[in-house]
Amino acid sequence: MFRGVFGGKVERPYCKLCGSNKLLVSKNLGVCRECILSRSKEALELIMQVHVASRKPYNLPAMPPKSPKGLKCGLCVNDCRLGENEIGYCGLVVNKNNRLVRRAGTSERGLLDWYYDPLPTNCCAFICPAYGYGYPKYAYKDGPEHGYANLAVFYGACGFNCLFCQNSQYRYMPERLEPIISAAELVSKAHKRVSCICFFGGDPGPQMLHSLAVSKIAAELAKREKRILRVCWETNGSMNWPLLEKAVNFALKSGGTIKIDLKAFHEPLNQALCGVTNQQTLENFKNIQPYLEERPEVPLLFGTTLLVPGYVDEDEVRHIARFIADIDPTIPYSLLGFYPHFIMDDLPTTSKAHAERCLQAAREEGLSRVKIGNVHLLSKVEY
Ligand code: SF4
Ligand code: SF4
Repeated sequence: MFRGVFGGKVERPYCKLCGSNKLLVSKNLGVCRECILSRSKEALELIMQVHVASRKPYNLPAMPPKSPKGLKCGLCVNDCRLGENEIGYCGLVVNKNNRLVRRAGTSERGLLDWYYDPLPTNCCAFICPAYGYGYPKYAYKDGPEHGYANLAVFYGACGFNCLFCQNSQYRYMPERLEPIISAAELVSKAHKRVSCICFFGGDPGPQMLHSLAVSKIAAELAKREKRILRVCWETNGSMNWPLLEKAVNFALKSGGTIKIDLKAFHEPLNQALCGVTNQQTLENFKNIQPYLEERPEVPLLFGTTLLVPGYVDEDEVRHIARFIADIDPTIPYSLLGFYPHFIMDDLPTTSKAHAERCLQAAREEGLSRVKIGNVHLLSKVEY
């Protein structure tokens, strides 16, 4: 038994493959972590049906289109190839009359919500200029940047389909196709008390052309007005490397950061939870390594992992931490508490004990800057 979100006792569901409920199973997913790893083919066949059904209410394509003679989008790992009238997996790109039309995600058309988030905010990486790191070159204050704001940019599309998505409201945006704002207009919102712009969502991946255009205009503004204006990305890291490399350069020069969500290490688990491979994300993470020494005073790259009960346990975190430590053990790594959302809303919130086991595993793998984020979300009840 574990206690549900509101404290009532809940039966532990059984895995549809092994029939056991020894491990915590999301009933809506239907399969336990062990079967996802050891009986991947069968497990993924079942779980992909859940992914397909989860996308229907938003009219998002069930799978990335792969028409042999289709037009190639070329922005992210999904490598959509669109036949006539087909829509890309993210919902933003369409083939109309044999022409690739980007309905949003270009410099003129960003599909996003934006708002001011007073600094220091929890969107910040925990070792960043919003806390005084890199002062005075990249930060206004030699400590928390109170009195300044982050221009938070919530993009309305994503190339992943995480069944635990903590920001699932973005899914309504591709069909509605609003609100739309150009890169230039968005930068005009960066008044003098805005010291950073953070791209997240959804995910910036399908709208990298927009975020890069914003970054270019923001860099020109910062130069003209001789001011600090950092640009940061929080992403699942699945965009194609040339786009991410451009983002890395903008982040580096402006004092910003790249936060990549490493959702799982094992490929079948990533596919099960997110519907998409993690291979490009891991490759991209590694590719950033040569840039790390260029700005030692403010870490450029951060890793984060959501601790999904029953699925992203200390073993998964240990593998992710080992992967990060092999690149550079000083890369900061945040472990985030899960709250029941979207399809996996039948799981409990992450427990304190689960988070602490993961923290210990990450430290044992040699990471020197690991932190549990969202501590307020952690429950005292073990599952
Ligand atoms: S951005 Fe990615 S998901 Fe969207 S159409 Fe292009 S390749 Fe497909
Ligand atoms: S990458 Fe983030 S926004 Fe996209 S589906 Fe996963 S959790 Fe949701």
